[in-house]
Amino acid sequence: MLKSLQMKLVLILMLLVISVMAVVGIFLVNSVTAYNISDFKQQMADFFALRGGEVETGLRACDGDPQAMTQVMEAYAGGLGLDDHRNFYILDGRTGEFLASSQGRDETPFRELTPNMTAAMGGRTGQEITALAPYFDVALPLDGGAYVLAVVDDKGELDELTWTMFTILLRSLMFGLAVAAMLSFILAKTITNPVENLTKTADRIAAGDFSQRPQEESADEIGALTRTFNDMANVLESTLAEVNGERNKLNTLFMYMAEGMVAFGKNGRILHMNPAAQRMLGLEFGPELTYTQVFPNMEIEEADLAEDGKCIEIDYAANKRILKIFLTLFGGADSENGGIMAVMHDVTEQTKLDSSRREFVANVSHELRTPLTNVKGYTETLLDAGDDIDPQSRRDFLQVIYNESDRMTHIVKDLLTLSQLDYGRMDLRLAELPVEMIVANITSAMMIEAKNQGLTLETSFQRPLPNILADQARLEQVIANVISNAVKYNRSGGRVEVSAFSEGGQVAVRVKDTGIGIPQEDIPRLFERFYRVDKARSRERGGTGLGLAIAKEIVEQHNGTIEVESQLDQGTVVTIRIPAAPAPEEEA
Ligand code: ADP
Repeated sequence: MLKSLQMKLVLILMLLVISVMAVVGIFLVNSVTAYNISDFKQQMADFFALRGGEVETGLRACDGDPQAMTQVMEAYAGGLGLDDHRNFYILDGRTGEFLASSQGRDETPFRELTPNMTAAMGGRTGQEITALAPYFDVALPLDGGAYVLAVVDDKGELDELTWTMFTILLRSLMFGLAVAAMLSFILAKTITNPVENLTKTADRIAAGDFSQRPQEESADEIGALTRTFNDMANVLESTLAEVNGERNKLNTLFMYMAEGMVAFGKNGRILHMNPAAQRMLGLEFGPELTYTQVFPNMEIEEADLAEDGKCIEIDYAANKRILKIFLTLFGGADSENGGIMAVMHDVTEQTKLDSSRREFVANVSHELRTPLTNVKGYTETLLDAGDDIDPQSRRDFLQVIYNESDRMTHIVKDLLTLSQLDYGRMDLRLAELPVEMIVANITSAMMIEAKNQGLTLETSFQRPLPNILADQARLEQVIANVISNAVKYNRSGGRVEVSAFSEGGQVAVRVKDTGIGIPQEDIPRLFERFYRVDKARSRERGGTGLGLAIAKEIVEQHNGTIEVESQLDQGTVVTIRIPAAPAPEEEA
């Protein structure tokens, strides 16, 4: 309560009133006392100057009779101002014995020698009066020191006056205090109300509510404070809006950036984790997560980061992904609000791509090296032998060289086709084609080869079959490759059945053989470049391992699919599906 400004002001003003009243009181009492003393002295001096001789003569004539003396003195009661509080005393000038006094009026007769009386007994007029003494008195020797006449005032009147003044002062004080309390309350209100308003607004601003501002009513210091406060609130509001805008931008960036981002506090507890990071690590953000839970296999300590304060780059595997993680400290090593920030790039695809590119280059080199070595070897043999070689062997050698060159040509041709498909440089010359005709053309071309292998090659077509929109040469290449595989990887006495039918808006060409089949685990890899299950057989039959890869690319460029099902030692079924061409509009 006392801590409020209002109460302090009330108290200060009250204390002020009390002190003023006290000072006024003391001054008044002192002045009245001083006035009384000087008045008493003056009255006595005037009286004795005027009537001193008369009184002395009168008293001398009494001849020591107290009663007569009293009578003489009573005659001067008016001049001496005798009353209930002021009395005269006549003492024996030598013994100090009280001989006479103002009879009857003296209710509290004075019976002790005052310093002034003692002085008068010594022959001097005693008129020393001190403000603190409980009485005023004068004493003077009479009749050559035979008597001492003393007038003693017991200050009764002064006391009454002082008391009256005191009660008046007390009432004024009460009134003054009441007025002071009221005034100070009003004054305090005029000061504290705006301050309270300011405090309330400041509280609201601290809670983020900028909707209200205190009124800048007065031109005084409080008005200036309110103005300054409002200016400050405006600056704060716009700064906060700016900061919020920036934070929103950062939040959006944080939410939608492709890179993963995780921030940890000094205690290792997680602070933030964006959706990309959650996807990469296969974790869900939870405030209880710690650094070691998020990166259980990370062998980097915080001390390693703090050492040079730089960013550390780590390759990290988690959740079947390969991540490149950049770790750095934020907020400074000594800051309480700092921590560790991890930025993650998912390099799984890139790594796979890199390794398949490396594998591809290795495969190409390998595939070309074998025929090249053969060509070189046989050529060297022919050159070394000169004319010493029989014509049959020469023919066989040249045949080998021819076959190997042919193989290399095949490989290079297939690689070129693939590269064209990769870079989208192969323009498909689309035309509406009847599937039956295409399949029939290919099978009839393959019939002799199949027969040579001791195989039966059969076709069956659903009729009518919708046309397809395709590049004839490319589609023939795909179907020929699949049928040729069914023949190549077959056994003597086996069968190859080629069928075509329409299915869900697509036309399917299915090639079923009773050949050697493909192990289940190899099926997903059949469409990889240079992937061959039976390498020796493929090579022997002039295969490059690129046929199905090319087939897949071409079929996909036609918005179609190619699918392989197989049972080892039982046979394989390859199905190619191409969307049917839109039916021609009937002429009206
Ligand atoms: P290749 O030129 O070697 O035939 P492909 O890409 O056409 O290359 O085929 C890839 C591999 O898939 C072949 O080497 C072969 O091992 C296997 N393959 C393809 N078709 C069949 C099939 N009908 N029966 C068994 N294996 C097959």
